[in-house]
Amino acid sequence: MKDKLFSGIQPSGDIHLGNYLGALKNWIALLDEYDAIFSIVDYHAITVPYEAHELQQRILDATAIVIAAGLDPERSTLFVQSTVPEHTELCWILGTVTRISDLERMTQFKQKSQQFYQTVNMGLFAYPVLQAADIILYKAKAVPVGEDQAQHIELCREIVRKFNKTYGETFPEPQAILGEAKRILGLDGQAKMSKTMDNTIGLAEDPKSIQKKLNKAVTDPARVRKTDPGNPNICNIFTLQHFFSTPSEIEYVDRECRVAGIGCLECKKILGKNIIAEILPIQEKYENLKYQKKYLQDILAAGSKRCQEIAATTMEEVREKLGMR
Ligand code: SF4
Repeated sequence: MKDKLFSGIQPSGDIHLGNYLGALKNWIALLDEYDAIFSIVDYHAITVPYEAHELQQRILDATAIVIAAGLDPERSTLFVQSTVPEHTELCWILGTVTRISDLERMTQFKQKSQQFYQTVNMGLFAYPVLQAADIILYKAKAVPVGEDQAQHIELCREIVRKFNKTYGETFPEPQAILGEAKRILGLDGQAKMSKTMDNTIGLAEDPKSIQKKLNKAVTDPARVRKTDPGNPNICNIFTLQHFFSTPSEIEYVDRECRVAGIGCLECKKILGKNIIAEILPIQEKYENLKYQKKYLQDILAAGSKRCQEIAATTMEEVREKLGMR
């Protein structure tokens, strides 16, 4: 029997290159190695302001885009988090073995509380506890994540140790699996690529818009004129070239940038062409899938059924260990 892998993605059709490079590609590469469970994490999504009437559509859009990107529903389990209420039950229980001081030092909580300072809530604070419940409810051993989530997985391991010590060996300690693209910066070259920072390229974005955004993206700040030599090592466009361009194109840009042999616009055209070539088949599949509501709902329903069965078994064991049965 294969080990279980768990990962989640927030419900949005606006999945961007940061999600694609930092998470999705890694998930897809691991499909054959693990019994992979992927969740559209709607409980997490409601920890920040959102439009309730859009949520169901966002869930279907997210499902369509991850399948279009290569998450084969025949080789994995895809479901919506809130259809398995044991996630929140286990979250509550894990909350009783989680130190408040550990939650307070979480970088993501600090960032989000600044960003959403008017609506900081307990759900946002307890986000990593729910994330731990998401993972260990299925006794998953592997969690593919971006570098920014590694701290949460370390906390999850700590929570597991505390639970097992208190109530007896129950859960395995999951391992974070970091992909090749650990941290993808946005077009500002400063912050992590994120929709709220408005520095993204969307996976479903129109090719013209992609090139337009790339043309405005920040490069080596010391390269003011085309005749100034540049330093690719400090340029985010060059970092992105590594994920989309051929070795000879990367070598060409590296060499010519340093001697002002090419301008940034030419470099960005090479990148734009390669990004568009890679994501165009995904966009075509997404355009077709997003209108197949019944097909998407059936995939999610089958995933929920399987996850409900696993979750029920785990929670029986947990309740017994807690003296609740
Ligand atoms: S030529 Fe390319 S790598 Fe060099 S600074 Fe411009 S965008 Fe960056």
